[in-house]
Amino acid sequence: MKKFQPQPGFVVQAFRFALDPNASQERALRSHCGAARAAYNWAVGWVTASWWQRRAEETYGVPEESLTQWRPWSLPSLRKAFNQAKHTDPRFANWWEENSKEAYSTGLSNASAAFDNYAKSKNGKRRGKQMGAPRFKAKRKARLACRFTTGTIRVDADGRHVTLPRLGTIRVHEPTAKLLTRVLAGTSRILSATVRHERGRWFVSFQAEVRRDLERVARPDAAVGIDLGVKTLAVMADSTGEIRTVANPGHYDRARRQLYRASRVVSRRQGPDRHTGAKPSKRWEKANAQRNKVHHRVANLREDALHKLTTSVTAEYGTVVVEDLNVAGMLRNPRLARRIADAGFGEIRRQLDYKTRHRHATRMIVASRWYPSSKTCSGCGAVKAKLPLHIRTYECDACGLVIDRDDNAALNLAALAAACTTGTGVAGDQDTAPAVSKPRGADHKTRTTHTRRKASAGRAGGATLPHQRQTETRDRTQA
Ligand SMILES: [Zn+2]
Repeated sequence: MKKFQPQPGFVVQAFRFALDPNASQERALRSHCGAARAAYNWAVGWVTASWWQRRAEETYGVPEESLTQWRPWSLPSLRKAFNQAKHTDPRFANWWEENSKEAYSTGLSNASAAFDNYAKSKNGKRRGKQMGAPRFKAKRKARLACRFTTGTIRVDADGRHVTLPRLGTIRVHEPTAKLLTRVLAGTSRILSATVRHERGRWFVSFQAEVRRDLERVARPDAAVGIDLGVKTLAVMADSTGEIRTVANPGHYDRARRQLYRASRVVSRRQGPDRHTGAKPSKRWEKANAQRNKVHHRVANLREDALHKLTTSVTAEYGTVVVEDLNVAGMLRNPRLARRIADAGFGEIRRQLDYKTRHRHATRMIVASRWYPSSKTCSGCGAVKAKLPLHIRTYECDACGLVIDRDDNAALNLAALAAACTTGTGVAGDQDTAPAVSKPRGADHKTRTTHTRRKASAGRAGGATLPHQRQTETRDRTQA
């Protein structure tokens, strides 16, 4: 899908508010989100049916040109087919009119995007992890969300309500002033609204085009290097040599005792059973909600702390230097995963990126993944061949400098900013960066290469789509 381009001087920004729906509104919200899921599943079934059909016909020896046509998955074609099917399909015929058409559009457009991603990933046109073919969403697991792009979408003038198509006017848990004043002043235009159930409550998120003047930073000429870690969340060194540390709040770790207790209560209640189809007891549901509350609180605390950190950093410095951490890789390490996920490294980087770019128009430099920030001496520039993780103090063999390991790394990152005053690309890859970046290739050694997928075809669920099976075998003969 084409990405919306805001007019110059404007940015696209989300304004999110917690909702306080009444009982019937809550039902309507659930109905809309369920409708989105139903439409998504319908689209997945409709498109893949043609794949199966073609596969079957091939086995009968039907010639290529008379095979069933591929069904297209573009949003307009899905919409067209769905609008015909909904009147007759028993899955929709009796109730589709109860929800806004936007609910079905949500599902169809998500399905369309899922097929796009799958196709692009398969053809090597999409970066990141290999995407599988779209699958049905289970009622039990699917996230409740629905997006409105047309119709009455507004923040009401009283500052405490929002109005959405079909759902009507819903009370908001917090004042909507931050968006309302902008809309009234004509500096903002609402593009769409998404309702979603998250962390135990309903939220509405308005996507708006907002006029945003760049905010000045306090020290435009100063640079800061940020070394992220688990023991101390961030060590920040600026170009004047001043070092600040941010302790790791460890929200999740602190809540673990509480979670452990809450989980024990849950496990003693009569929970749902997928195999027998047993419904959970009321007491189980209560206890489970209590446990979820702890999780939600942790998530909220983390989100708040990360925003405060990144906002203060980006508001102060003209240049921010961070390392390009392999967060996805670290999360695969069972010993690190919990701590890394709790610290939110990936989120810090994402927030720094958009805040420097859109809020202040300052620079963010991402040091290369192989830049030896810890192994380089911040005093003389000598690079150690090895520095195991348990050694917390850096002692330079060349100039005798003794400094905390993380302080040293942060200072090195800050110094990178001066090294690439001209470029905008990835630091450390540049010629100005220290030439001896990879002593003995020790950095690379730790990773083993995994074969991309298991040789056997099929997923855990057992269902293998015909076209998948084809490529799997093709892969194998090539290998
Ligand atoms: Zn040194």
